[in-house]
Amino acid sequence: MTTESTALVVACPRCNGLNRVPQERMAEAPKCGKCGAALFAAHPLALDDAGFHAHVERADLPVLVDFWATWCGPCRMMAPQFEAAAAQLEPQVRLAKLDTEAQPALGGRFGIRSIPTLVLFRQGRELARQSGAMGTADIIRWTRQNL
Ligand code: ZN
Repeated sequence: MTTESTALVVACPRCNGLNRVPQERMAEAPKCGKCGAALFAAHPLALDDAGFHAHVERADLPVLVDFWATWCGPCRMMAPQFEAAAAQLEPQVRLAKLDTEAQPALGGRFGIRSIPTLVLFRQGRELARQSGAMGTADIIRWTRQNL
């Protein structure tokens, strides 16, 4: 075992830069080495192609993605619940939102048929998915059960 194995690759929510963060420093409000932004802001980030690649496919942290759209009433209702879940699940899990109208290719790639749909990823692999709006406590419980 090397000392490297205790570090996690964390993508920056502002610049998508990849940072290697020692496990024991994860709870100490780590900052991006490239742009200086806080790596965790207790706020879901909006994913585009580049963000999806960095956060979901290249970083080590599990990512909970909310596939949604602005016209979707239940999605808008769930937004504050999802936001509150981010504050409790970070830094163990990264929370992100993917607008299926703005990013139709990503929605299509994962066969999203109804929204909102939550998909939990780890290192690019899908661990679980759940359709339908959920409250904060259910989002947290479901995510922890599926890690
Ligand atoms: Zn950065």
